[in-house]
Amino acid sequence: MLKSNLRFDPRFALFDICMQKIKNSFHQLLERCKAQSTREFLARGKSVIRCDRCQLATFACICDWQPQLNCDAEFVLLLHRDEVFKPTNTGRLIADLFPSQTHAYCWSRTEPEQALMDLLNDKTRQCFIVYPANLTDLEAKPRKIFLEIPANEKLKTFILLDATWKQSGRMYHLSRWLENVPCIALPEGSLRGYAVRKSHQDNYLSTAEAASLCLQMVNDKKNSEILLDYFQLFNEHYLATRGCYPPVLGEVHQRLSAIKSQI
Ligand SMILES: [Zn+2]
Repeated sequence: MLKSNLRFDPRFALFDICMQKIKNSFHQLLERCKAQSTREFLARGKSVIRCDRCQLATFACICDWQPQLNCDAEFVLLLHRDEVFKPTNTGRLIADLFPSQTHAYCWSRTEPEQALMDLLNDKTRQCFIVYPANLTDLEAKPRKIFLEIPANEKLKTFILLDATWKQSGRMYHLSRWLENVPCIALPEGSLRGYAVRKSHQDNYLSTAEAASLCLQMVNDKKNSEILLDYFQLFNEHYLATRGCYPPVLGEVHQRLSAIKSQI
């Protein structure tokens, strides 16, 4: 393991302070949900003092390694309301890295936000629902499934159902307003990293891993790799938070620091 003094670099301190003030779409959604919430969400390990932004313990905060980038596609995080409050949520990692290309909304069965509907109806976009499951088993009403990205100039926009396995199935089937949006089948193959939450479904991917595969599909391999690095970093620091030990700095920290210093 590499030991390096990567946590603080005064050259970027002012830049960091400026960036901290800019809230990405996930943070804005979290603030709205907190304001509307009548009950406090009791996350596991609630006695831990957490960073406001990454929700990890302050001693395991990942914000110092978070580059802000632009990628070749856009993402819509369609979050189940419970998911917004979970420290294990990985959809927010996408908003962290690609704030200008990520839109976050709470799912509603019957009342989707107008801004979301406008986005889905935008003729300059090609929207896909990312549903990394065996679609044929689940599909009651057949809909178009793309196996690869069609070659056209439209802005590829990936809709990620960010919820537990069971919830995302409901969201997919009960949202009449999503019925005309085609699906994209993610390529099979292994991804490095591991999921914090395991599922009984072998083909279950975390939301961040699914987004990484989407970037591979649009040939944005560099950002796909960076997202996987950031996801790996998140997993290591999440486990450190749960185990109450300081995270060990390694190659993934070094790679993300190098990217941040190039911006
Ligand atoms: Zn943090």
